[in-house]
Amino acid sequence: MIVILGGGFAGVSAYNQNSEAVVVDKKDFFLLTPWVIDYVCGLKELEDVTVKYKRVVLGELRKIDYKGKRVILDKDREIRYDKLIVSLGHHQNLPRLKGAREYAHKIETLDDAVALRKRLEEVKNVVIVGGGATGVELAGNIRGKNITLIHRKERLLPTMTTGSSKRAEKLLTELGVNLMLKVSAEEITKEGVVTSNGFVKSELTIFAGGLKGPQIIDTIEHRNKDHRLLVDKYLRSVEFNDIYGAGDCATFENEDIPMSANTAVISGRVAMRNAMGEEVEFRPKRLATILRVGEDFFGDFGDNYVEGNSARLLRSIAYTESLMLPEKLRR
Ligand SMILES: Cc1cc2nc3c(=O)[nH]c(=O)nc-3n(C[C@H](O)[C@H](O)[C@H](O)COP(=O)(O)OP(=O)(O)OC[C@H]3O[C@@H](n4cnc5c(N)ncnc54)[C@H](O)[C@@H]3O)c2cc1C
Repeated sequence: MIVILGGGFAGVSAYNQNSEAVVVDKKDFFLLTPWVIDYVCGLKELEDVTVKYKRVVLGELRKIDYKGKRVILDKDREIRYDKLIVSLGHHQNLPRLKGAREYAHKIETLDDAVALRKRLEEVKNVVIVGGGATGVELAGNIRGKNITLIHRKERLLPTMTTGSSKRAEKLLTELGVNLMLKVSAEEITKEGVVTSNGFVKSELTIFAGGLKGPQIIDTIEHRNKDHRLLVDKYLRSVEFNDIYGAGDCATFENEDIPMSANTAVISGRVAMRNAMGEEVEFRPKRLATILRVGEDFFGDFGDNYVEGNSARLLRSIAYTESLMLPEKLRR
């Protein structure tokens, strides 16, 4: 039996290749993470960003018994496997920044998003730490607040094209966001953020960066410094040949696999085909990353910068595809 740990983008895509597999997840719904910020900013509602599934074994993973080939879930339940696909996503690495665990809001789960939307109703001064896609979309879509965005690097969206970085900087500046580029956040306190450029007062600090693999990967010897499972080009664990890794929690030893929804979908598909006996190589590709700031849509399509109607169209296609992804698990 093939067991899939985690029913997110990678896990659902793996299941779509083989519906005899068993999917284990701690929640009974699929979360459309790329639209969670729209929910936080009041542009979408819960039913727009979640899809309830039926065919999932509901349970929190406690342990993988690699030798005994079993996974142990809460309430001492166990499931035996012949092949295991680990697709448990990522966590935000809050301990990396002093005070973040105590005083910053993270944005990782639906509960985080619900709490954040509520808290936003109560405050005026918001500081966002991290100028990647999440930080930029938050800064660009939260309305009626004084927003500061602190970003360590020289340009926003550092993993995207310079066209996207420039567009983000222009739009956020026009919206009146206080951009602090080349500034690092050093500590979060109850009153605000200590930065390399002085103290910034804040009623609500959102930590929008610092990703790492899930804790369970720590029980595997062959992982990288960000707790991601090391896999070969067939997405097979370099340590256990009956275990495959897909999505954000897995990466190559000499090249980082990008953490994104569409990469996760492709890797889930490849991991399942290989778990079923094929030998398909996984080659990470840059696909589309489209951001929304108000009514402006822009981003990267492969290595090219896109904006306007074509960007809007790409984003709406991605939304429809994500909504359809868990279709087989709903029945
Ligand atoms: C706010 C936000 C916005 C994002 N925006 C974008 C975007 O615009 N574009 C983009 O490409 N990517 C975006 N991402 C990243 C994207 O969501 C991830 O790259 C993608 O979800 C990775 O898929 P995955 O299958 O690896 O993990 P996930 O989709 O996170 O799935 C992991 C699954 O594992 C389950 N799980 C975890 N731990 C356990 C456990 N112990 N026991 C049982 N189940 C467990 C979880 O419940 C979850 O269902 C965003 C992420 C966030 C948080």
